[in-house]
Amino acid sequence: MIQTLREDPGDAEIDSHKLLVRAGLMKKVAGGLYTYLPLGMRSLNKIQRIIREEMDRAGAQEIVMPILQPAELWKTSGRWESMGPGMFRLKDRAAHDYALSPTAEEMVTDVVKSVVSSYRQLPLTVYQIQWKFRDEIRPRFGLMRSKEFLMKDAYSFDTSLEAADASYTAMYRAYRRVFERCGLKAYPVEADTGDIGGKFSHEFHVLADSGEDGIAFCDGCGYAANLEKAERRAAAAAAAAECGAPETIPTPGAKTIEQVSKFMGVPGSAFVKSLVYSADGTPVMVCLPGDRDVNEVKLRHFLGAKKVELADFDTVLRVTGANAGSVGPVRPTDSSLRIVADFDLKGASGCIVGANRDGYHTKNVDLARDAKIAVGDYADLAIARDGDACAKCGRPLAVKRGIEVGHVFKLGVKYTAAFNAVYKNGNLEDQVMAMGCYGIGVSRTMQAVIEQSHDKDGIIWPPSVAPFQVCVCLLDPSDDGAAKAAFDLEAALEAEGIDVIVDDRAERPGVKFKDADLIGFPVRVVVGAKGLAKGGVEVKRRRDDKTKTVISPAAEAVAAVKAALRPDGAEQLDFN
Ligand code: ATP
Ligand code: MG
Repeated sequence: MIQTLREDPGDAEIDSHKLLVRAGLMKKVAGGLYTYLPLGMRSLNKIQRIIREEMDRAGAQEIVMPILQPAELWKTSGRWESMGPGMFRLKDRAAHDYALSPTAEEMVTDVVKSVVSSYRQLPLTVYQIQWKFRDEIRPRFGLMRSKEFLMKDAYSFDTSLEAADASYTAMYRAYRRVFERCGLKAYPVEADTGDIGGKFSHEFHVLADSGEDGIAFCDGCGYAANLEKAERRAAAAAAAAECGAPETIPTPGAKTIEQVSKFMGVPGSAFVKSLVYSADGTPVMVCLPGDRDVNEVKLRHFLGAKKVELADFDTVLRVTGANAGSVGPVRPTDSSLRIVADFDLKGASGCIVGANRDGYHTKNVDLARDAKIAVGDYADLAIARDGDACAKCGRPLAVKRGIEVGHVFKLGVKYTAAFNAVYKNGNLEDQVMAMGCYGIGVSRTMQAVIEQSHDKDGIIWPPSVAPFQVCVCLLDPSDDGAAKAAFDLEAALEAEGIDVIVDDRAERPGVKFKDADLIGFPVRVVVGAKGLAKGGVEVKRRRDDKTKTVISPAAEAVAAVKAALRPDGAEQLDFN
């Protein structure tokens, strides 16, 4: 059941998605839903095997929980409401509510709570490899963001938050091994920890231009963080320029910074961008350099709010006197409005700000002199960008795109407290367990391997996760001598534990070579009567060009294939 396609599927935007379909690894059923065909299933299984081995090695125990989850579990944690439309919900015939598992913190906590009663049973880490369902706003890029996907989810339970650090570290190490064994270069980067704080949330990212996350890297000290978290140092303040009195001028029809800057003929950086947010319902004005964007995660942490979102039109008008696009920090209508500013605005003068009057801006603003910004309300509130100074060492950050293939997260007691998941300590007192959760997108990982390793002709699988490691191209299946040589080689390789597929279709050699390149078998062996008569079989690695083809006597073909499958030393990552 192998069928390759010559044409790219119409809906595929990125190479790995095109290749998954063209190489016959999967078939689209509907948006965000795919059937894994035999070749795709083989790779997916190999990735799962690696994950199981590494989870087991780290001391985690495999379980499997239902995909269909009773609503009661989600109501206990409060997520029945907060998950919103991203969670698929359904009813049984008795009208009981269920969710299709988007994740399983609730269910696993409920299970572990019923099993663990004493500190002697801790620490405990369990995992499953199970299908997950999410009604993503924009399913796209094939398996990267699908509605149904395979996830490995692990959960650790410990006697205390401090004890949980060791469970976290064990998973972090296991993840490095998993991705390395899958032939993937995945970088651990710091991610937002929500309420926990500290350094206990890492995402593992595969760098690719198609990645949906921005990651800031510092070459100087090795700091790497998701842009939602990446901290920067304030830019050195420019010498305070003298500026005259503020002057309000009409800027008709110009709403965005680009439009006003064009209208006034000054660069975007001369502006102060002002936005009104609602932090848990309270309006707050956020000011930042005109060419910067707000980092809402940083803003939320700075304000100590649960939720921040842009305020609605009515609120903006009520507190500033103008509509978005014309608001600014100088005399908003509501004199009690809190104003916070990005630290790069400290000491800024000669700026242009919205005048809190539709269609007007005010120039010659010295923030310290003219704006109503309480001292101390300057903080790192903008999204870091290329060239910003690293908060740790001051060297410039470089921003790259990444695909998140895994996430390790110290959760604390959020779920265990909600479920009253307690154990008895040595004094027979009830204590709430501390929890961690650890996900790997198994199907996304498979596609990330392809995104990282392909060329114009097709996939270049690392041997560890290739559907087959070796393709034996039998040029003319009707030639008995060549056919015997091909099948003998297949048997000999299989005896060595190597996966082999023999292409004995009645197709032209060109078609077979094209398909072998497209599917991306790491090693191709060409067996033909002419070659055998001349000296043997041709052994070629997929990632090398033709010039590196080895002619091997048939008797030595196994050794030649094994040599070709060996990874280059340079590809090994270390595990610090
Ligand atoms: P993202 O930010 O990409 O939506 P997430 O933070 O929602 O990911 P988690 O809830 O941490 O993801 O899920 C664990 C892993 O599952 C992720 O690291 C990712 O590899 C994978 N994953 C998440 N959503 C999807 C999806 N829609 N399709 C495929 N894989 C996914
Ligand atoms: Mg998500």
